[in-house]
Amino acid sequence: MTETDKEKTKYSFKCLENECDNRVCCTRPHVNVTIDDLSRWTAQQHTQIIQALRLHIPESESDYFGFETERKSLKSDPEKTACILFDEEKNTCSIRYSRPISCQAFPLSYTGEKFILADKACPGIGQGEVSREALKESRDLAEQEYKERISTLAALPGVYSVITTHMLRESARAMESMSEEDKQRLQDIMTKQADSEQSDEKSD
Ligand code: SF4
Repeated sequence: MTETDKEKTKYSFKCLENECDNRVCCTRPHVNVTIDDLSRWTAQQHTQIIQALRLHIPESESDYFGFETERKSLKSDPEKTACILFDEEKNTCSIRYSRPISCQAFPLSYTGEKFILADKACPGIGQGEVSREALKESRDLAEQEYKERISTLAALPGVYSVITTHMLRESARAMESMSEEDKQRLQDIMTKQADSEQSDEKSD
């Protein structure tokens, strides 16, 4: 067996594109986005992609702080959700050529020590032939995704803290410059909103 043949047996993948019948790349629970993805989209003025993102706020100590794409229910199965950028009618990704790095690397992932399959249910795994060059490209993408993911995880709590502190200071300054009458009006609005949220919770 030649060196190239040995590489081929390790990993082969060919995306089935819109012929794929499960689209696990789009229906996996989280589609991670990195700060580098944001930089690329900002430079390319893809504001519609940035508007499709949300913060993943940690709910426990083992959870993480990150960016991800918004979700939507599938029309074909409302119990399931998918990435909001999945075009269900055309069975394709609506930002195919500007996908986040986690989608470019999919289904290969790198843990910092080894390459793993992000989702074995992807039907493209084992399809086609992967040349040495294509294998290197896939591995490079997976390693790049790992580096970007780790630096985003490290930077995001600090970035979030700076932005929320800035917003709180700005709100405090805006409150200080308000007339007593406007402050009372704002207080009334907030009380009404809190009351309506409480009655909504009771009726649930
Ligand atoms: S699940 Fe795999 S084969 Fe199907 S569209 Fe996504 S990457 Fe391609």
